[in-house]
Amino acid sequence: MRINNYIEGSRVNGPGFRFCIWVQGCERGCPGCFNQEACKMQGGKEMAVSEIFQIISRDKYDGISVSGGEPFYQKKDLELLLKTAKKQNLNTLVFTGFVYEELAKECRSILKYCDYLVDGPYMQELPSHCKYAGSGNQRFLKLKNGLIEADLTSSTDDAIECEIIINLDGMVTTTGFFDIL
Ligand code: SF4
Repeated sequence: MRINNYIEGSRVNGPGFRFCIWVQGCERGCPGCFNQEACKMQGGKEMAVSEIFQIISRDKYDGISVSGGEPFYQKKDLELLLKTAKKQNLNTLVFTGFVYEELAKECRSILKYCDYLVDGPYMQELPSHCKYAGSGNQRFLKLKNGLIEADLTSSTDDAIECEIIINLDGMVTTTGFFDIL
């Protein structure tokens, strides 16, 4: 799997304490995209799913979150990643620029391993009122067996949360959403 970055523990990228992965590559070109580095089709690093789970096994997480870049550009690896997480009793959340209805046609085999989906392209002109969505058109969906069980978009509070993580090398990673006033 082509990875841009990962963090070993976040509380702003989905419910609970989560391992988060940003995959490499997205060509959707949403104006104002918050992670243009991860959009480059070249770059990042290749990691086997088994290698990712060796890192995940170092701590106890409620779930994993996969963002990007566009996770559904790497269908085979995404399916294996989510399937392995479910086998380990981790819940799964995927952030995607596609809407559920597009994915339901071609990616049902992946969606069945997905507990939560934040879907739709980022539209900077539409303010979000969901703490996990970047813009107001995106939905926070609960899935079951690949089908929408509930639309939780308006069930979260709209408090904007972000994390700033400084690792031992002094590298700073910011994640979540910022309210720039
Ligand atoms: S879909 Fe996401 S990663 Fe891709 S350009 Fe849009 S905001 Fe950026």
